[in-house]
Amino acid sequence: MDNPAGVMMFAETAEGTLCSITKELLGIGRKLADVLGQELSAVLIGKDLDSLAKEVVAFGADKVFVADDASLENYNPERYMVIIEHVIETAAPSIFLLGQTSRGADLAPRIAFKSSAALAMDCVELDVDAGTELLNHTRPVYGGIAMARAQSRPSSLQVATVRSKSQDPSEADPARKGEIVSVGEEVRGYDGQINFLRAVAVEADEVNLEEAEIIVAGGRGVGSAENFKKFVEGFAKILGGVPGASRGALDSDFAPANLQIGLTGKIVSPQLYVAIGISGMVQHMTGCSSSKTIVGINIDPDAAIFKYAHFGVVGDFEQVVPAMMQKCEELLKT
Ligand SMILES: Cc1cc2nc3c(=O)[nH]c(=O)nc-3n(C[C@H](O)[C@H](O)[C@H](O)COP(=O)(O)OP(=O)(O)OC[C@H]3O[C@@H](n4cnc5c(N)ncnc54)[C@H](O)[C@@H]3O)c2cc1C
Repeated sequence: MDNPAGVMMFAETAEGTLCSITKELLGIGRKLADVLGQELSAVLIGKDLDSLAKEVVAFGADKVFVADDASLENYNPERYMVIIEHVIETAAPSIFLLGQTSRGADLAPRIAFKSSAALAMDCVELDVDAGTELLNHTRPVYGGIAMARAQSRPSSLQVATVRSKSQDPSEADPARKGEIVSVGEEVRGYDGQINFLRAVAVEADEVNLEEAEIIVAGGRGVGSAENFKKFVEGFAKILGGVPGASRGALDSDFAPANLQIGLTGKIVSPQLYVAIGISGMVQHMTGCSSSKTIVGINIDPDAAIFKYAHFGVVGDFEQVVPAMMQKCEELLKT
């Protein structure tokens, strides 16, 4: 490949701020661009983006393509694709990165299809071969019990989505200089098949598991909704984290459905994942096995959770968890 245009990424925003995945993409994107000796550019789409565009530069982009229009305030894949396609055609990047988020997972296959590009979804590691410019990616497979390392086949564009919390976010340097390019004319007057109807805001007290640094999750083994509240939610609160749940806990009505972690629930990668009374079935671990530190608390020494846990406690949670809660409270006070 002889494409000098470098690495491009989709900068996601929410409620007027850059999403944490955007800072992670700027971190890994910067590394890849530096290896290639090329530019890192970002595509920023939405409304009232002046200060966000400057922030994207501060966090590491050399260039930001900004489509700023009231009609782009709410996500619409067709309208966003019109802009992204135009920017890709104009700037001809060799790599395009997105977050493995609902938007990223929606846009990435569209971009890959339109560009006949190689696509790797849900990557947890990325690097690039400086000679061939081919992207190497590592992705969890078989429900997270194995990692697959692969290389994109040569094509003019390589597209990858990156799992949230798998990369170090870049640090802001307000003195950084970059170019801000206004785009988006082509979307004005565009009349597609999808009309935006309304956005349903997440309840203020709804847990954002994907962004959480600390999760305390409870399973069927906690025995009751009262125990879930007392031990799982209580421990999460002490640690400054959020509660999560296995499907076993949901099926037993101990926890609401929005807390489910796993294959058919949320995929999380916190710094700390505490699993209380969770057996560690592969469908659950798919959702949390990339957590930095996993602590398993289970009465059964042969429970599968101990195959994944960095620290394990074999015992009845009703004895183990209160002791941990008390100790953590003491330590966090000092
Ligand atoms: C297609 C498909 C998709 C699925 N998707 C998901 C998913 O997204 N998320 C998910 O979680 N599951 C999912 N499952 C279900 C999954 O296979 C397991 O059934 C589920 O994760 C089990 O939940 P659990 O570990 O809470 O319950 P159990 O398997 O019943 O485990 C309870 C654990 O608690 C321990 N325990 C009991 N008493 C105590 C005590 N006093 N102190 C400490 N430990 C105790 C037990 O030793 C046991 O290990 C899916 C299954 C299928 C087929």
